[in-house]
Amino acid sequence: MIYLDSAATSRPYQEAVDIFSKVSMENFGNPSSLHQAGFAAKKILEEARMKVLSSLGLSSTHNCIFLSGASEANSMAIKSILLRYQNRGRRAITSSLEHPSVTNAFLQMEDLFGFEPTFLPPDETGSVPVSSLEAALDKNVILSSFMEVNNETGAIFPIRAYAEALKPYPKALLHVDATQGIGKVDSDYSCCDLISFSAHKIGGVKGSGCLLYRKNLQFAPLVSGGEQEFGYRAGTVSVASAASLAKALQISLENRKRNWENASLLCAELEKGLLSIPEVRLNSPKGHSPYLCNFSLLSHKASVVVEALSERGIYVSSVSACSSKKEPVSEVLLSMGKTQREAANSIRVSFSPDSTEGDVTAFLANLKQILSEVKPL
Ligand code: PMP
Repeated sequence: MIYLDSAATSRPYQEAVDIFSKVSMENFGNPSSLHQAGFAAKKILEEARMKVLSSLGLSSTHNCIFLSGASEANSMAIKSILLRYQNRGRRAITSSLEHPSVTNAFLQMEDLFGFEPTFLPPDETGSVPVSSLEAALDKNVILSSFMEVNNETGAIFPIRAYAEALKPYPKALLHVDATQGIGKVDSDYSCCDLISFSAHKIGGVKGSGCLLYRKNLQFAPLVSGGEQEFGYRAGTVSVASAASLAKALQISLENRKRNWENASLLCAELEKGLLSIPEVRLNSPKGHSPYLCNFSLLSHKASVVVEALSERGIYVSSVSACSSKKEPVSEVLLSMGKTQREAANSIRVSFSPDSTEGDVTAFLANLKQILSEVKPL
């Protein structure tokens, strides 16, 4: 198997699985229980929380809630914050290329509660220029939410510049969906009020994630019940998942620089090979995250090519969100000014720390062969 779809999910680190299994077997107590088994589980949970915060340099400024993943973290950062601070203002700003867990949270808040979202379009680089955010801001804005790295193109958003632009508006909080950036990009999240991510994109197990938030913030809980996770997210916490997430994050951050260099090398190799194929158009913008490379086919259906690659044991993604015409098309690529054909026929290759040059060579050779065999559009 040649797995080049790590932006969808990554193979977990052995250490992350080992700690999940060890804690599940040896520390299965409920961290809310008032006996030794509970205390032991609680200790592991709090150590995991501190490990996450300190590995990101946020232990004095931020707190951390463990939950089921980035979708839930995004939902909480947007809905719980808008509801909690609704008397400060009604406007919220995001981009038109966010993950559906962000976009749909904004739409839901508009639909059900009358909040006023603004969806800023990208420029041709696939991210929102800070001048667009500056132009959209006013005193009624209470939240802005941007992804750190786009999950289709790898475009890196200027998070620090957004935080600077928000300074004159102290009521406007900054939420960053760091799912595709954390542990990969050289990031400093201290300027962000809320940060979301999933464990399974950084070598952790699925069904686990974090919402980090500035210590002075409060939430209207989406899941109400017991007092777990500071009363903001009720339900018995998976201590094994929390410990495993902290381990995966630690490994990712410790090896970040070396892994980034490896991904950069592979990405350059891949793009060089792709550029030698006449019908290929690269979509990932200059300076994109080397972990993701997106390109379109001009003469073949991407979904057919992805399926043919899969039959040969090579796994990549063809990106699709349903357009109004019910044809799978990437809204992200359309909003970057790509043609309908390019947006309907894109392929995403995404790397992990254990991807190799051999993977890239095999991918390119098989792609070329498939393009010469499959009937063109
Ligand atoms: N945000 C981004 C940028 C993502 O790429 C993803 C996963 N595709 C998510 C949020 C949601 O993550 P999860 O499915 O783990 O909840």
